Amino acid sequence: MAKFKDLNSFSNKKNIYNLLPFNFDQIDNDIYLATNFVGEHILIKKSDLGRFVNKELTSTSNIYKELKSKHFLYENKNDIAIDLLALKKRTKLNFLKEFTGLHIMVTSLRCEHSCPYCQVSRANTNSNKNIYDMSHDTAIKSLELIFQSPNNNIKIEFQGGEPLLNFEIIKFIVNHSEKIKGTKNVQYVIATNLAMINHEILEFAKINNIFFSTSLDGPESLHNKNRPRKGNNSYQKTIEGIEKIRESIGYDKISALMTTTKDSLSKSKEIIDEYIENGFSGIFFKTTFSVRICNKNKIL
Ligand code: SF4
Repeated sequence: MAKFKDLNSFSNKKNIYNLLPFNFDQIDNDIYLATNFVGEHILIKKSDLGRFVNKELTSTSNIYKELKSKHFLYENKNDIAIDLLALKKRTKLNFLKEFTGLHIMVTSLRCEHSCPYCQVSRANTNSNKNIYDMSHDTAIKSLELIFQSPNNNIKIEFQGGEPLLNFEIIKFIVNHSEKIKGTKNVQYVIATNLAMINHEILEFAKINNIFFSTSLDGPESLHNKNRPRKGNNSYQKTIEGIEKIRESIGYDKISALMTTTKDSLSKSKEIIDEYIENGFSGIFFKTTFSVRICNKNKIL
């Protein structure tokens, strides 16, 4: 039986190569920008682009060599080009393995502070819990989502409102998370104003290696003005809370950050002194900048 040669044998083109996926856009009359999904790009003349897609480039031309080295084409005989392209793509997306490590769970939108700069849709403490507190159902679904993350190191941060107003759900989440976490490392942080801290919370935090993050806006008068609560004692509650956590769980289990307001601007020295007196080694100014305190006389 007669056997036909393959199609390439009848081609009058000097070079048989295949195109790899790419995008292109016109830059000006004669120049196009071609890009591919491993992040390579090339500026190519319109005429060369036409010859390239029609497979008319000769393998000795510079444009051919550049297109080949940047994975815009591969030669039929060279299957390894596809493997190289896949390897390059895998390397480029390697960061996804560390993706979504930090997860924030808002356990309650209720709060007994009424800070003027509050950025959440805060509700009063006597507001309807069914509306403003996280339910068990939401907690379970959230954890299922969290543990779909490819990251092996997960941080769950409880925020509010004041998250400790719904301490029951925090306990449930930590216990359930420990059951379903598999081989992942999970760290828990409670971001709290510390007004609600008590023995039960401290014991639970100690057993489960939970960290705390709080707000310390500066000296007493400034803190109380920035962070009003019934009794005008938010500063006292914060300082007492910091001491209780350090005594019960460990010195490094609590960190603090400040919110800068108009009233803070003239009190930078007092604010830094407040942090030093309370044993903090640095101040975090939200997302703007940070200052490291070396000792009382030197700021870096
Ligand atoms: S303590 Fe936090 S949640 Fe409560 S009012 Fe102040 S900023 Fe808002």
